[in-house]
Amino acid sequence: LGDSLSLGIAWFLENYSHKNPDSRFSFGYARFSVLGALINSFILFAGAILILSKSIPRIFHPEAVDPQGMLLLAILGIAVNGLAVLRLKKGLSLNEKVVSWHLLEDVFGWVVILITSIVLMYVNIPVIDPILSIALTLYVLFNVIKNVKSILSVLLEGVPDNISVQDIESKITSVPGVMAIHHTHIWSLEGEKNLLSTHIVISEKADHQEIILLKRQIRALLMRNGIAHVTIETDFESEDCGSRSCE
Ligand SMILES: [Zn+2]
Ligand SMILES: [Zn+2]
Repeated sequence: LGDSLSLGIAWFLENYSHKNPDSRFSFGYARFSVLGALINSFILFAGAILILSKSIPRIFHPEAVDPQGMLLLAILGIAVNGLAVLRLKKGLSLNEKVVSWHLLEDVFGWVVILITSIVLMYVNIPVIDPILSIALTLYVLFNVIKNVKSILSVLLEGVPDNISVQDIESKITSVPGVMAIHHTHIWSLEGEKNLLSTHIVISEKADHQEIILLKRQIRALLMRNGIAHVTIETDFESEDCGSRSCE
């Protein structure tokens, strides 16, 4: 049930997130996909804790099993879930990443059963099943936590990992005609599309042609640095825009 609920939520929010911007959500619906990623991370996290809470006691009280039946089930499970992972692998959004980790967790579950059943056909050490489960679950958990960090960074308007505000500001100030820069914000819409807003200070004497050229150069520069959505305020040298920063 947890599986279909989680995949259903992911699928619904992912589709919803492709809606175009409207008067209610002027940025568009991309963050619905991020929300889906967060909800699914929690479900995955809860699932992992559940698996751990079941596996850990079984280290001390291993159960007897039927290896042949397990082997057959495992092959079936790996085939079905493996196919799903491969189909989703191309997805890049945070949401799709979380879903593929979820499916991968299921595949791992079956791999554990496969290995266990083969080993049990030769030697009788049932404790191998819970130990493998715990190891693979910890691996999934580690990756879920990594994903949650990127998800929260987007939701909390963090500067994208591969971008530095200081670096971008100094690149913009190096464009001829830009005298200074302040109040720069860089954030990400959904983990892929980056946005920037900033104020540049220009000469009193700059005419409108120069300003148009300047803004065009800055947009091209930012595009090369992975920022596609840009808002530039132009302040004249003698002008106090009253907004040096967000404080
Ligand atoms: Zn300003
Ligand atoms: Zn601000």
